[in-house]
Parts: sequence; C-alpha cells; structure tokens
Amino acid sequence: MRTDSEHTIYLKDYTPSPYAIVAVDLDFRITAESTRVRALLTVEPREGTEPGTPLVLDGNELTLTSVAIDGAPLMVSSYAADADSLTIVEPPLRRFVLETEVSLKPQTNTRLMGLYRSSGTWCTQCEPEGFRRITYYLDRPDNLAVFKVTMTAPRDIAPVLLANGNKIGAGDAGDGMHYAVWEDPHPKPAYLFALVAGDLGSITDNFTTASGRKVDLAIYCEHGKEDQCHWAMDSLKRSMSWDERRFGREYDLDIFNIVAVSDFNFGAMENKGLNIFNDKLVFAKPDTATDGDYENIERVIAHEYFHNWTGNRITCRDWFQLCLKEGLTVYRDQEFTSDERSRAVKRISDVQTLRSAQFPEDGGPLAHPARPDQYREINNFYTATVYEKGAEIVRMLATLLGEAGFRKGMDLYFERHDGRATTIEAFLAVFAEANQIDLSQFQTWYLQAGTPKLTVSDSYDAAAQTYRLKLEQKTEPTPGQPTKQALVMPIKFGLIGPNGSPMGWSSVSGSDVRDDMIVLSGDSAEIVFTGVANRPVPSLLRGFSAPVNMTTTLTQENRLFLARHDSDPFGRWQALQDVSMALAVGAVNGTPWADDAVTALRQAMADTLANDNLDDAFKALALVLPGEALIARTIGKDIDPAKIHDVRDQLNRAVFGPLTSQLTVAYIKLTSDLPYVPDAASSGRRALRNRLLGLLVASGASEGPKLAAQQYEAAANMTDRFAALAVSGAAWTAEAPMLLADFRTKFGGDPLVLDKWLSVSASAQDDGVLERVRAILGDPNFPKNNPNRLRALVGAFAMNNPTQFARPDGAGFRFVADFVADVDTRNPQVAARVLTGFRIWPMLEPVRRAAAKSALTALQAKGHLSRNTADILTRTLAG
Ligand SMILES: [Zn+2]
Repeated sequence: MRTDSEHTIYLKDYTPSPYAIVAVDLDFRITAESTRVRALLTVEPREGTEPGTPLVLDGNELTLTSVAIDGAPLMVSSYAADADSLTIVEPPLRRFVLETEVSLKPQTNTRLMGLYRSSGTWCTQCEPEGFRRITYYLDRPDNLAVFKVTMTAPRDIAPVLLANGNKIGAGDAGDGMHYAVWEDPHPKPAYLFALVAGDLGSITDNFTTASGRKVDLAIYCEHGKEDQCHWAMDSLKRSMSWDERRFGREYDLDIFNIVAVSDFNFGAMENKGLNIFNDKLVFAKPDTATDGDYENIERVIAHEYFHNWTGNRITCRDWFQLCLKEGLTVYRDQEFTSDERSRAVKRISDVQTLRSAQFPEDGGPLAHPARPDQYREINNFYTATVYEKGAEIVRMLATLLGEAGFRKGMDLYFERHDGRATTIEAFLAVFAEANQIDLSQFQTWYLQAGTPKLTVSDSYDAAAQTYRLKLEQKTEPTPGQPTKQALVMPIKFGLIGPNGSPMGWSSVSGSDVRDDMIVLSGDSAEIVFTGVANRPVPSLLRGFSAPVNMTTTLTQENRLFLARHDSDPFGRWQALQDVSMALAVGAVNGTPWADDAVTALRQAMADTLANDNLDDAFKALALVLPGEALIARTIGKDIDPAKIHDVRDQLNRAVFGPLTSQLTVAYIKLTSDLPYVPDAASSGRRALRNRLLGLLVASGASEGPKLAAQQYEAAANMTDRFAALAVSGAAWTAEAPMLLADFRTKFGGDPLVLDKWLSVSASAQDDGVLERVRAILGDPNFPKNNPNRLRALVGAFAMNNPTQFARPDGAGFRFVADFVADVDTRNPQVAARVLTGFRIWPMLEPVRRAAAKSALTALQAKGHLSRNTADILTRTLAG
C-alpha cells in the first residue's frame, strides 16, 4: 500500500522551533479564478539558536511565486521550496521580515482544508494543519503571533469581507474591487486564523459584558436564511453571560462574528472572533429543525464560544495536547446545557453518547489515550476519546475537588497560562497547587487507553450489623499498551434501606471514603461499614461519576428496587437499563427470559411512566430498551447482529406489547396544539410523546404504524414529523416507503432536511436498504462533495445500520469500502471518518468477520490512499 507518507510523530520528540514568527501581515487578492497570498512574516531566532540553523516552514500543495528577506529577493541558492515546505538555508540571526507570495485555487480545494469555496463563499478551515495550505508558515500551535489581514475581492461577488479581530479599514480598490483590513490584537496560533469573503446576509445584535464592554454580534449566512439564525444568536448571548457567571470569563474583542457555510468537514470552528460553522449547527426554525437540532445548536454555539478562553487565549503546545482544549471545553458546554436545561437528563444523554461513541473506540482497534503519544495523521485524533472521555476526566477532577476547589484551580489556570500554549501536565499542576493535593496518579487517565472494568460485590453480617463492599478495577490491554495501571476513581454512592430511604452507618474503614464518595486508587479495596441495621441495596457510581464499565452482584430484584427508590435519577435510569440488558443478553446467549422477569420489568416501566414526580424528558430516556449496538458490545464477541436485532424486537413486544392501552392514553394526553417553543419543558413533552409512539410501533401494537402515519401527516413541527418518519423507517412499517417518498417531495429542496431523509433511508434494517442507498448515491444529482450529505447517507449506513452494514454476504462492507476509496480521492477526512464504522469487525461472528476483513483487505490492495485513510485502515486491520 502506498500512502502520502508513513511518518509517525512522537510526543517525546517535541522541541520548540529554533525561530518564532511574532507578527503576520497577510494580503489576499481574491478573484474568481485564483487567490494570491502575500505574507510578511516577522521572524525572530529563539534564544540559543546557532548561526546557520535553517528556517523550515510548512506548506501543503503550494506554488511559490516569490521570496524575499527584508525586501531583498533571495537568490535561488539561499532557499529550497517544494509543495510541502520552504527552507531558508541560512537566515539572519536577528529579527527579520520574510516575504513570500503564493497562488491558490480555492475553487478546486475539495479537501475543505485551508482556503476553499463553499457555495460561492470563500472560507477557511485551518485546524489542525490547514494554514500551511494558505501560506508557508510555522504551522504548529506553539507559535503565537499577532495577525493583520488585508483582503481585496470583487465587490459584486464578495461584498462581505471578514477576518479575525477588529476591522480597522475598508474602501474601494478600483476595477470593481474593494478591500477590508482586519487586525487581531491577541497573539494566536495559525490554526485559529480565519477569513470569509462572499455575498452573505446577516442578523446583528449586541452584548454588554459584566465590565461594560459593548460587543457587536453578527451571524452571516446565505441570503434568505437570516430568519433561521435567531436561535443561534440567542444561544450565543446566553453562553456569553453563563461564562461570566460560572467561570468569571468575559469576551475580549469588540466584535464577535459567526458565519454559516454549507460545506464543512467539522461541526464548527472557534477561530478568534470569527467562528465558522457547519450550517446545520446554525439554522433552525420549527418546521425544518427538531428539538435535537435546537439543543445541538445551543450546545455547539456555546462550545465554540467557550473556546475563546479554553483553546484560544490558552492553547495547546502541540497537537498531542488536543484534549487540553477539547475535553475541558466539552465539560464546559455540558455544564452550560445542564444549567440551562435538566442536569439529570443531560447527564444521562452524555453517558449514552460516551457509551455509544467512546467506549467502542476504547475497546477496539482504534483505542488511544485521551492524550496520545504518537500519531501518523492528527486529523484522525478528533475522536470521542479526546472530546468525550476528555470531558469525563475533567468531570472526575471537579468531583474529586468539589465545586469550590475546581473553580480555584480554573482561576489559577487562567491566571497563569493566559496567552500561552501549554500542556496537560501544566493543567493538572494548577489544580494540584490550588488544592494542595497530589494528582500524579490521576494523570494516568490521560495517558492510558481502554475503559476500566469496575467489579463490585457486597456482603452483610446481620449479627455484627456490618456491611462490606468489595471493589476491584482492571483495564484490559489496548493496542500498544499491554500493561495497565490502577486509576483514581471517584465512586459516588449511597446505601438504601428496605423502605427505600437512605441509610446511614456509624463508621467506615478500608478505603478513602468521603461522605457520599469512595475514592478507589488501588487495584482493589474492601470497605466495611458498621452500625448498619439492615441489609442495604447499594446505589453505586451515582451520576456516572467515573467513565468505567461496572459489573455488580446485584440481583434483578435489587435493580428494580433501585429503579423505584434511588434518589439519583441516573441510578434509576441505569437500573432499568441493567434489568433490560440482562434479559436481552441472556436471550441472545441462549437463555430465554422467564415470564415473571419480563412482567417485573414491564411493571417498573409502567410505574415510571405513571410517576408524576419524574420529568417527561427523563421518562423519554428511561422507557426504552438498550440499543442493538450496546447489547452487541456487552456481549463482546462472536456477534450476530441479526440475532440481536430479533431478540430486541421480541423483548420490545414482550415488555411493551401488554402496555398498549397505557401507552396510548399517555400518548394522547401529551398531545398539544400550543405553538412550538424549543424550551426544556416543551421539548421534554414532545420527547416523551414521540418515545411512546416509538414503543407503540416497536411493540407491535396493531394501531402503531397507522398512528405514526397520522402523526406524520398532522405534525405542526419538524420534531413530531421527523419522529414519526424515523420510527416508521426504523421498523420499516407498511407505511414507511410512502412517508419517505412524501418527505422527500416536501423537503428535498432544503439540504439540511434532506439529510434527515438520507439518514432514515440508510438506517432502515430491511433487506432492500443497500440497493436503495446505492441508487441514491448513484443519482447524478447527488452532491458528492458535500460532507453533510455523504455522512447522512453512507455514514448512517455504516454506523446506524448494524444488520445491513454487517450482512453475512459482505455486500454492506464492500459497498462502504468502495465508497471510502472513491471519496478518499477528494476528501480524505470524510473517507477516514466513515471507515471507522469497521472498528466492530473483530467482535463479529466468524462469517461476518471474514467478510469484513476481506473488504478491508481489498481496500488496502486498491493502491494509493490518503494518509488519513491509510492510518485508520492499518490500525483497524491490526485489531
Ligand atoms: Zn472544540
């Protein structure tokens, strides 16, 4: 297999560059045909740099047209340039200005890294290594410089000219051209550079910070979509206010701009003062966006805004530290959503995300630490481990230190590292110092891959009135890490007495126990509680206080007891999940469930539905069986996805079938004709009603499919319409094809709504789905270069359609592998991301495993693959 490059980069090899670029003056001349970039880089040798040390700048696919130092053109012998680097052989050992000029063709840039055109708009994506596709530069996050940007472009096609920072000049440039000058006073790494030029509409607003600075806010978008930007603006203002209240952080420029573009590899990008967003994370109106879309927009707007402090003002020393900004900022956005909505519901859905996205990564061939120590392609490390597990690590730190201790550490972090590029070690050091504790063992969470297994057993001595909990932790080997160390785990817990009330104890020994938290730091611990009057039921890992897989010796009766009595909502939810999981796993492994076990689960579900003290949104999360992928991973080996699908289907019928009348009554009671509001209470009500509809369909209620079709027709908003479409599609009801056809006719003209249609189409688990997906992709009008469309169709097929992707004849695998080979030639990031769907292959039963391996081997044999795709392929096959 040939690849772009086989080079591996190691954390241990980090060294500062011998030179620093301290100021950047960029001049872009943009025309429809090409863009000329002139860069004046003020360069200084770092202390200790020896005379004659060459200056090596990064480039990628660049064409150099001129190079000069302090105004004097360089002789050909003084530099060496190719598409990927520019070397100044013997630069002056003093401050100097390096001047280069390159020419770009943004309209042919289908990788969507660097400067490219999206639906006519010029825009940039530079994280992590896109800036080198714009000009030769020290494209590494530890080089911080102040940037000034002049842009000249045709006024008719690019009336809007934006860059980072504040606008300091603008005017006419003759010949139908105009210009704008932007200056960003905050030194920043090149990955935060951004530029936008295009014909865009906008909405504006303003925000006054706590200290009285007035900030002009604007969201730019394609004309005609302005009315869909108001929720994003509202979310932005709430984010700005929350970061002041919760972390004492204010915004620091006079302008904050957001631009929505339709071709974007990521969700959004936190460029200083000029965030660029995938338009699906900006646009919302009730008849085209769901409650889920509204919540995602709120979350991502907040996330990118919060990066202004955790990411931009304090950035990463190198890309191994990516988790420093991402894990912390995801934690911050999770807290924002928890404060704005329901904390319990947010926690449960974050744990669902962690288990569905991160745990499989941690347990498969692509496992890596939250702070990796080597990579071949950094783009492949924008993973659930870096983001979601990274956030869990920060959450554990906050749990261990308490709210006040955590805030003390954050304050010291901002004080000490503002304006710097730093590391995970430095991050932990401020918490250790501010709280006078040792976090050296805690740091292992960042360095060690794999999801720890926590095993808990208990015993009770009635005569002595003592209760014992025995805890053990173990982490299985992962690629490159054969041995594992014990981790520090905060385990929140409570003991519940026979009447359902919390139980106390007179003394506790055997481990570090602080009120409602056990801190496990060794491989095992035995904790003895004395003065315990009755045998308690333990509620363990409350709030999912550590990202582990826990197994306990609790009986199904104990779990059902917790589902009724645990004061921790997460614990109640988890208990119902555990009861269902045990039945499903037993049945897949050949032990059919007993009728009374199903009856008990059904009663617990019915009681949950009837409980007036629980939120609708919580009930919506509780009244569902674990998903097929989660059941598969719990079983762990020789997976037959078709069998799991059938078992789950039967369990749905057994548990919820006899509840048809209760479900129907509750469904009708939740019907409302009030106008759509995206707040937590109304979206919770819709979520529960749509869950009930889903259960009526999945449990085989005779009226279920018709009810879904009726809801689809009568829906007054996209949340209800899409939910009806999705449940019909997932069960592939008789009405599903008709509803899908209607949806396409009604909404096919709106690309973001088309994505919903593509995903439902690709996720249907009927035997005809592969041919339908093939036909959609083969349509000459299908936008083959748009990441959102490709992910909605083929990404959904590979990730959300376990039975058809893993067909025993291998056709699903071959289809996705062929797709990856094709897209890889245009957009390696999209190709590599879809390829990660294959990470399940080592877990499959032998026939499917062989089929998957053969598709991967055939992809490998195809020849030239990008570094992104080759890296994922090599690691996946090695697993
Ligand atoms: Zn981020």
